[in-house]
Amino acid sequence: MKYKKFIPTYTFKSILDIPLEELKEKGVKLFLSDLDNTLISYAESMPNEKSFEFKRRINELGFEFIVVSNSRKERVNKFCEAFGCPCVKFSTKPLKRGIKKAINKVASKKYAPNEVILIGDQILTDVLGANRCGINSGLVLPVDIKTDKRPTRFNRFFEQLILNRIKKKEPKIYKEKLKEFDDLNDSK
Ligand SMILES: [Mg+2]
Repeated sequence: MKYKKFIPTYTFKSILDIPLEELKEKGVKLFLSDLDNTLISYAESMPNEKSFEFKRRINELGFEFIVVSNSRKERVNKFCEAFGCPCVKFSTKPLKRGIKKAINKVASKKYAPNEVILIGDQILTDVLGANRCGINSGLVLPVDIKTDKRPTRFNRFFEQLILNRIKKKEPKIYKEKLKEFDDLNDSK
């Protein structure tokens, strides 16, 4: 198994722990974000205080922001309308299609790959998809892992195999970027 594609560029405890100023200094301009268990849990449908606070900071620093969700449900549109951002639904991450659509069609201008980051709570969809597109990937600990739906629980099983592999092959990277995420998986 090629495990390198599953290693995130960054790991963050939550959306409010993302060092936005630092990312801006590094040249990031376009934020792509997963919705479920990244911005809100599966049990929620509308933006909460925490996600609004994150969006306020995003706007303040002048990032462009697009939600890229694998869900095809109407709740994605409703959330994004309330959140004030465009979205790509049914994005089929980790395939490149939906991510490319966000970058090339939905974004208001052209961005180089190193100017884009995709944040999300799943290694198998969000991190792999971002890495395949050559953009930055940011793994966020799931908002509430207990609310994962069945397909995500299925993904988490494979995620565990990948985590075990990285732990064995790249112990230093594992410790720095993935241990906390792995521990959280264990606690569900
Ligand atoms: Mg998610």
